[in-house]
Amino acid sequence: MALEFRQVSKRFPTVTRGEVTAVSGVSFVVNEGEFVSVVGPSGCGKSTILSMTAGLYSPSEGEVLVSGEPVNGPNPHVGFMLQKDLLLPWRDIVSNVEFGLESRGVEKAARRRRAMEELAHCHLEGFEHQYPYQLSGGMRQRAALARTLAIDPEIILLDEPFSALDAQTKLLIQNSFAKVIAEQRKTTLLITHDLAEAVLMSDRILVLSERPGTVISEIRVDLPHRDEPLKRRKMKEVAGYAAQIFALLKLEEKANA
Ligand code: ADP
Ligand code: MG
Repeated sequence: MALEFRQVSKRFPTVTRGEVTAVSGVSFVVNEGEFVSVVGPSGCGKSTILSMTAGLYSPSEGEVLVSGEPVNGPNPHVGFMLQKDLLLPWRDIVSNVEFGLESRGVEKAARRRRAMEELAHCHLEGFEHQYPYQLSGGMRQRAALARTLAIDPEIILLDEPFSALDAQTKLLIQNSFAKVIAEQRKTTLLITHDLAEAVLMSDRILVLSERPGTVISEIRVDLPHRDEPLKRRKMKEVAGYAAQIFALLKLEEKANA
């Protein structure tokens, strides 16, 4: 098992609201090489789940296990990528991709080789000496993925990485992420607000309740072409899966309220 949450709760002390319970009694597993999405209302604790997986927060109760080992502190085997690409503006693309390798003490030539490899996987050859501002939003997200992959993580965590992209770019970038992740057989946890995206990209979808978030349903997406969301997009079953999640999140009732 690549990742396991066992009855995890997380409480945050706050100045104005007292203690806030972000998530409560969260249990799930992600198998090796699996692509799992997490959907749920805003503020239900999705990002908190990723932060606990990365070891940035520790659970108030329960346990988080990566490859069977309890997570105690920042985990070098977990790659974390956010909506904002967080590329350093003063570094060119290849040295941005090298960044994580630097802090791991990988020597210069090996670092460069590794970074160029991942840039090629993410179709950014020829752009290595450009600066982030010279790239489009979609290319920057691909560069951020290359940087995440460069450290060869066991698990990739994606927190709404496509939500700032325009609709067409989003489709293309989803497709290129899916391809690279499938080729490298990376275990992946994706947070998204986009129900269609979850269906197009995942093997399985965890649906969370309102805060405190807890897993109310797990949906297995029984469709081929997880490595090519653009192909899945043409399948008539996709709408059915999205409608199922829509109902679980009671979105219809909310729309009519
Ligand atoms: P989501 O990603 O699903 O929108 P988050 O995990 O960011 O939700 O947050 C869940 C809840 O926990 C929210 O109410 C948020 O305000 C609270 N929270 C998250 N991180 C912190 C923190 N570091 N300190 C205090 N409260 C926090
Ligand atoms: Mg969030």
